[in-house]
Amino acid sequence: MANENNPFLMAQRQVKSACDKLGTEEAVYEILKNPQRVVEVAIPVKMDDGTVRTFIGYRSQHNNAVGPFKGGLRFHPDVNMDEVKALSTWMTFKCGVVGVPYGGGKGGVIVDHKSLSEGEYERLSRGYARAIAPVIGEKVDIPAPDVGTSGKVMAWMTDEYEKATGTFAPGVFTGKPVEFYGSLGRTEATGYGVAIMARSAAKKIHLPLEGAKVAVQGFGNVGSFAALYISQMGAKVVAVSDSTCTLVDEGGFHIKSLMEHLKHNDGELKGYEGAEERDRDSLLTLDVDILMPCALENQITAENAHEIKAKIISEGANGPTTIEADEILDEKGVVVVADILANAGGVIVSYFEWVQNLTRDSWTFDKVQKKQAELMDNAFAEIWDLKEEKKTNIRNAAFMISIRRIEQALKLRGII
Ligand code: NAD
Repeated sequence: MANENNPFLMAQRQVKSACDKLGTEEAVYEILKNPQRVVEVAIPVKMDDGTVRTFIGYRSQHNNAVGPFKGGLRFHPDVNMDEVKALSTWMTFKCGVVGVPYGGGKGGVIVDHKSLSEGEYERLSRGYARAIAPVIGEKVDIPAPDVGTSGKVMAWMTDEYEKATGTFAPGVFTGKPVEFYGSLGRTEATGYGVAIMARSAAKKIHLPLEGAKVAVQGFGNVGSFAALYISQMGAKVVAVSDSTCTLVDEGGFHIKSLMEHLKHNDGELKGYEGAEERDRDSLLTLDVDILMPCALENQITAENAHEIKAKIISEGANGPTTIEADEILDEKGVVVVADILANAGGVIVSYFEWVQNLTRDSWTFDKVQKKQAELMDNAFAEIWDLKEEKKTNIRNAAFMISIRRIEQALKLRGII
């Protein structure tokens, strides 16, 4: 992997840059530059044809000075150790940015889950949960869904963990189905947050949201709800994409119809009637006001950043913008609401779910969304002020706020 696109090196550089700007003691970067523990597991799965295949998985636990490790589980063919380490690093800072009492964790399995039957998918999920059971727990490390996993997978894994440990522990995974110790508002949370953060940024730069043109890259869990909520806030979603294509409708999409189309089309946008179908990667450089990258990392790079026309980018995906691209966007004056803030809605509502599990309580949808919006709006305001004060960008300011919180915890624990 080229160094520019190695997400772990990118995460380390971001942490270093924020530590330098803040002038923290050297020990802080020395501790935060590596995850505390990275586990690699080999998971044997009996396939439907009677053969056995072994899948490789990881769990990276970055830092637990502030609280238990927390972060998603990705099932994707491109999963690798550096990616998982990077994602766990970003999770530490994401939790710090919004002040939820967790440290970063992340896991993944190298697999194209779409090539598996339902039974194979379940056996792999259960096998992974058994393999990492010794290093996770309700108050140790709490995984959640990410690309290629879902509430259903979290329910299988919770069941498997409870069997393996002989405990009742609904709080060991979050993002579970509402009927199985999940929280109302969790499915919508990340996309809702991406939309709230775009709205906050629009207010700051006096861009009226009513009629503002939006493009959303990736139309999975995050992208579809980001599109839904930003359109409910008055903006016009004129382009959406997924791994199959880009769809353009200058008049603005009816997002619920798109979501309905996915249900009957194998989850794919391709083939949607009433919109123009274009090349998948053409979405990023369309003439829009707000861009929401909600697919995978390394989408906005030094190659295409010059061509970006959006005034605001609200990052739903983790690490969608490379460091080089960030510099170009800064020069162009684009407001980039960094991933660790923009997509923190997922971990915020995961935290609410965990609190409900530990207290055996259940909150209403409105209570969840109201508390999420409050936390994110407050974090945005604090970060914006620091960004202005330090004459830096949102990403650096967000890292700084987070590092301050972690540094304090490291000091109070006597680690530095
Ligand atoms: P998902 O699997 O539900 O959706 C991913 C979407 O991206 C799919 O529509 C897929 O077709 C599309 N996609 C893949 N490659 C693409 C490409 N090259 N161009 C355009 N579209 C492409 O996953 P998700 O849960 O929505 O996660 C998306 C991103 O958000 C990931 O980076 C993930 O780490 C991040 N994230 C997710 C959550 C969460 O709560 N789900 C929380 C924080 C961050």
